[in-house]
Amino acid sequence: CGIVGYIGTQDTKEILLRGLEKLEYRGYDSAGIAVVNGKGVRVFKEKGRIAALRNIVDQDTTGSVGIGHTRWATHGVPNRVNAHPHQSHTARFTLVHNGVIENYEHLKRNFLSEHSFISDTDTEVIVQMIEAFVVEGMTVEEAFRTTLKNLKGSYAIALLDQDDPDVIYVAKNKSPLLVGLGEDCNVVASDAMAMLQVTDTFVELMDEEIVIVTKDSTTIKDLDGNVIIRNPFVAEIDASDIEKGTYP
Ligand code: GLU
Repeated sequence: CGIVGYIGTQDTKEILLRGLEKLEYRGYDSAGIAVVNGKGVRVFKEKGRIAALRNIVDQDTTGSVGIGHTRWATHGVPNRVNAHPHQSHTARFTLVHNGVIENYEHLKRNFLSEHSFISDTDTEVIVQMIEAFVVEGMTVEEAFRTTLKNLKGSYAIALLDQDDPDVIYVAKNKSPLLVGLGEDCNVVASDAMAMLQVTDTFVELMDEEIVIVTKDSTTIKDLDGNVIIRNPFVAEIDASDIEKGTYP
């Protein structure tokens, strides 16, 4: 399973699909991408191989911001509805998640008792909680951090906000996730290998950190909103190993 994300100037579909192909070795049962397209976010997801996802991605949907996911189902059978990305009720928020939310039933009862759910996943509670907190008046960043503070379990997350499409919100706890720094773009990936096509310069994330990623900035914060400064590193992976398939 894995996550990719891209925010920049190029069309993102192919970058995301290629990134997901590089993550195939991690294992998965379904895959999906979301692309910011004009005023909306278009979601494509499918059970099975990335090749199957490729077949249903509308080539006329263009956009230079997007996120992608390969799923290894833990809650809810592998099918299209349970595949990520998941969207909030109004479709304002679109989210991908790797990991397990151990207290998702408790969260549904405590925060979302009036809500119905579209999927059988533990993941959907995250995106519905973020929207519920925003409806209550929080900023998106506050809603994101407040939601994360309530989660028990593991997560690597990328989140899109249709109303603010120049940002990808990212978070990590006990699941791998890196932010990559490109020229005129920034990326997100579970494994540097997925985004070496774009950059070899990455910033490591620690548990319980979020990153606010735009085309030309990456701001790391803790769950209380304090800014964290961390130097990037250059991924030492021989591109020829990737072509040969001998990495990892
Ligand atoms: N627990 C989530 C689900 O079953 C995410 C699984 C994963 O890491 O791919 O949908």
